[in-house]
Amino acid sequence: MSELLAKCTQQHALDQVVSQQDQELLLESLRNWGALDHRFGYVKGKESSERRGFARYPGGGLAGKPEFSEPFSVHDVLQSRLWTTLAAGNNYEMQTTMFQPVGGMDQIGKAFARHLSGNVIRYNAKVTGIDQDAQGVSVRWQDTAAGGDEQVATADWCICTIPLSILSRIPLTAGDAMTTAITKVPYAASVKVGLQFKRRFWEEDEAIYGGISYTDLPITLISYPSTGYHSRGKAVLLGGYVWGLEAFEFTSMSPAERVRKAVEYGTQLHRQYPQEFDTGIAVGWHRVPFTHGCFGMWSEQVRAEHYENLCQIDGRIALAGEHVSYIPAWQEGAILSAHDVVERLHHKIVAQGGHT
Ligand SMILES: Cc1cc2nc3c(=O)[nH]c(=O)nc-3n(C[C@H](O)[C@H](O)[C@H](O)COP(=O)(O)OP(=O)(O)OC[C@H]3O[C@@H](n4cnc5c(N)ncnc54)[C@H](O)[C@@H]3O)c2cc1C
Repeated sequence: MSELLAKCTQQHALDQVVSQQDQELLLESLRNWGALDHRFGYVKGKESSERRGFARYPGGGLAGKPEFSEPFSVHDVLQSRLWTTLAAGNNYEMQTTMFQPVGGMDQIGKAFARHLSGNVIRYNAKVTGIDQDAQGVSVRWQDTAAGGDEQVATADWCICTIPLSILSRIPLTAGDAMTTAITKVPYAASVKVGLQFKRRFWEEDEAIYGGISYTDLPITLISYPSTGYHSRGKAVLLGGYVWGLEAFEFTSMSPAERVRKAVEYGTQLHRQYPQEFDTGIAVGWHRVPFTHGCFGMWSEQVRAEHYENLCQIDGRIALAGEHVSYIPAWQEGAILSAHDVVERLHHKIVAQGGHT
């Protein structure tokens, strides 16, 4: 891109928008930023090899003479559609400084649970209906572990965090605006495949330490573990994170078939796959009975029509969760929606002369 823009500048295509003096600075910056040579070309040489890697890396002594690598042609770069993922880390939601909870995402929920005093969480309680009247809210539920008859819990208020994909199928006493909004948000499909290998060949053979290989295959990407570098023995990588139509296709397969497909596609990137593969696991979120999808997919139009209705406190019931936020698919959206609704509920109750 730097070479092409330098050509445009030199052929006076930018004269209307960039002054002569600034054009000199622009060319200087393109040479520096784009690793161009003295003739403003991105060509085989020291500058480009220091960015893209050498054919033979600089070393020591007589054996250390480097060999420069040949850049891809503009045609090949464009045909690869490199740009489709190149800017991923520049996005606000995908910025490069990101943290991973040690032990997996659910450690965050468990850490919150540890800080709650008393026995306030009841696990394995499947809600089957939510009713309200002027006096309070009653929630019907079943104990999925112990079985038995349906039970009823009552409270003055209810903040419901059940995903809309499930809530839309549960009887709920609420006004038309909220119940309509609940049915309007489709859920994104996604499949993740974890592959266990006998050794960390990506580190040992290919010097890949963490990060992601993006592909144009149905698996989308391969993401390597960012901890435990060079540890001996088996290791797991993310062998596929499938989205869109391909996610529906993967979801329709058995877990074993998804794993087999991920190994087949991944072999195109890493020839070690078939020999080093040990075992794998695959989850399709549309098939997980308590979420039926990955996250609420708001379109601009549906948000304009239904988002505020979804956020309202309807009588004694209010909703929270990633689906009640402008940051869908992130835990941050879920938490900020909870802050927002708790504050509004507090003001409402205090205004009515009650206590929270
Ligand atoms: C594949 C994938 C990858 C993700 N990666 C990240 C990431 O890297 N970083 C990040 O911040 N976020 C990530 N997220 C998003 C994050 O998991 C969600 O945004 C977050 O969990 C939403 O919180 P929530 O409380 O709204 O819903 P959930 O966490 O889904 O909680 C809803 C709860 O309701 C329960 N429930 C459902 N039905 C019933 C019922 N009938 N009765 C009782 N309970 C019920 C469910 O069991 C569940 O516990 C990812 C999500 C997926 C699916």
